[in-house]
This record gives sequence, C-alpha cells and structure tokens, in this order.
Amino acid sequence: MRWGAGSVSGDMTRTAVLAILARHGGLSRAEIAEQLELSPATITTITRRLLDAGLVEEGEPRTSHTGRPSIPLELVPDSAHALGVQVAHEHVTGVLTQLDATVVHGFRHPFDPSRPDAVDVLTTLIRSEIESAAERRLPLLGVGIAVPGVVEPETGTLRMSVRLGWTGMPLAARMRAALGVPVFVDNDISAVTAAERLYGAGADCADFLLVAIGEGIGLGMVLDGAPYRGAAGAAGEFGHMPILQDGPVCSCGNRGCLETQVSTESLLRRARELGIVGPAASLEDLRAVAAEGDQAGLDLLHRAGELLGRALAGSVNLLGPERVVVIGEISMLWPFLAASFHRALADHLLPCVRETSIDTRPWADDLIAIGAAGIVLATPLAAPRQSIRSGV
Ligand SMILES: [Zn+2]
Repeated sequence: MRWGAGSVSGDMTRTAVLAILARHGGLSRAEIAEQLELSPATITTITRRLLDAGLVEEGEPRTSHTGRPSIPLELVPDSAHALGVQVAHEHVTGVLTQLDATVVHGFRHPFDPSRPDAVDVLTTLIRSEIESAAERRLPLLGVGIAVPGVVEPETGTLRMSVRLGWTGMPLAARMRAALGVPVFVDNDISAVTAAERLYGAGADCADFLLVAIGEGIGLGMVLDGAPYRGAAGAAGEFGHMPILQDGPVCSCGNRGCLETQVSTESLLRRARELGIVGPAASLEDLRAVAAEGDQAGLDLLHRAGELLGRALAGSVNLLGPERVVVIGEISMLWPFLAASFHRALADHLLPCVRETSIDTRPWADDLIAIGAAGIVLATPLAAPRQSIRSGV
C-alpha cells in the first residue's frame, strides 16, 4: 500500500496510522510500518507523538514470530472526537465521530444558504453542537465542513459554489474566529474520498476513483496513494464531461454535459417533461414507475446508464484505477441503470483495465458528514486533545 505525501488538508501519514489501528487494532510498530510501506523510523516518530497525545496506548507485550517481544499499539477511540458537517442547499447534516470514525451522535436541520445571515445561522448551529460535546466532556479535535463547490485546500476558502450561491467565502477563517476551535473546510466529494481512503474502499488500494451522483456529479480521485486535486483544487468535475453534441444547457453554462443527462435532478426533470411522472414527483416516484415496468421510464434510465458507462470507461481508460466506487442518491435507481451501464463499460474499456472493480454503494444521508469529520482526522493533529475553551 502506498501513501502519497499529498492529502486533503496535509500529511496523511499520521491519520493513516490511526486508521489502520482503527481497522485492525493491536499492531506493533513493525507491523504498521510493513502494512503502510513506511520506514520503521517514521512510524516510531509518529507513534511517539500519538502516544504523547493519548490517542494511542501500548498493549500487553507479546512474543513475535521472531522470538522477540513486540508491543501492540491500540487506538483509544474516545480520546478524541471530530464534528463533521455537510452544508447542502436545503439542509445541514452533521455527525460527531470518535477517532475510529464511529458515529456517536447525528443531526439534520433545514438550511437556506440564500439568507443574508446564512453563515451566522450555520455558526450558531455548530456552536450548540460543540457546547453539547463539551457538556458531555468529549474532547474535540475540531470541526470539518464539507461544501459543494471549489475550495482552496490551504485556506478553506470556498472559491465558488453554484449550489449554495456563495463565492469567495473565507468559511474556515470565519468559523475559526467565531467558534475558537480548529475548523477545516473542503469540497464534499473530496471529503468522502479522503474518508474512503482511510476507512473504506481505498484503504488497501492506492489508485481508486469515487463517483458521486446526486443532484450534481463529482469525482474523487486517489492516484498513486494521494488525493488528486488538480491545479487550484478544480479537478474532478466529471459531471461536466461533454458527452452530447448540441445537448441541453448545463448549470455550468456549457451544453451537453454528463450532468444534464445522468444527475438525479436532470433525470427527474426529464421524467416530468415526458409525463413519465407527475409535476411534483420525487425520485422515489420515478423509481416506483420504473419498477412497475413503465417503458418510457425504463428507456430514460437505460439511456442514462449507457451514457454514464461510456463516460466512466473513458475516465478508467485514462487513469487506470484499481477500483471505482459509485455512490449517491442515484443508488435508488441503480437496478434500472446497471445493465446498460455495464454493457457500455464492457464495450469501451480497454483490455488492460478490464480487471478494475466497479461497485455501487447504497446511499446514506450522513455519508458526506462522516467524510467531513474525516477532514479533521486527516489533518495533522496540531492541537491533539484540544478541549473546548470555556465561553465558546
Ligand atoms: Zn456542465
């Protein structure tokens, strides 16, 4: 397993050590070094800091296969927590997670990002969650906020979010000043990709893609062990891959983007236009109509699966990942897209990448919030065991 130096918010090596202990527990320094393909000296330095911070503890010595005693290291899961918050255009979803990514508390509130005081509303909401963690005496490492848009990884400034209608927003700096705790902001898909890298599909795989399909379409990339962000953090706009000549106008202003054919929003809009579902229908209604065998509905989804398969085949041919995971609200419709999707893949994947595993994952509403908590865990633990200052 290779661990690149780059990351969502900094050096991921320390987090990789925490994550491997969360997944396997009871590993010696030598075993950690071997599994992460890092030098024993590096692991010794990192684990010393983690021990000093109380995030990791030594277990009972045991005799290794070489006959020499080895000391297993164990995570102290409740030694630190992270608050992860997903800001979307209609709601805010959050989780409080332990160091091992176990969710100990969750919340969801309606949210209107177009309000002039939207950031203040968000601050108040997060402050009350920080206070309730403090009342329960849960040490907090910080707050991770995941937003749909282009974020400067170094500063946590949201450069642009079409969905939230926010531009040039120094969100991390404002939140940090208002809350008095470390706050990290990242793009929502990047946050989920980092969490997958640590705890999920990417944990044992140095090259993987995460395709997220909901109202928009995003692509998270881990290449050669490190998240790939592109110049100015703008990589991964898979939804704006041009696939149709003279297609409909996309939210980006161009024509014929993948997003205009495959996002849940575009599928629902098209289904309404074609009279497949009623004007106020939901995604669930579209699923039900397809399940009943409505031919026009099935044709629409079949076409979407085919276009997605072709676009993804192009990306897999280009990047050569070992694994691709598809997530998002689209999973509800997946049974009706899957056949044409896999056929299109089979038609367009090059022989050298046919072994790439491509899986879909059921959608969970708190998946992005858990990823946001992962932003905190994936950040150098500059302020380990930071407790909440009184008066915050
Ligand atoms: Zn577009």
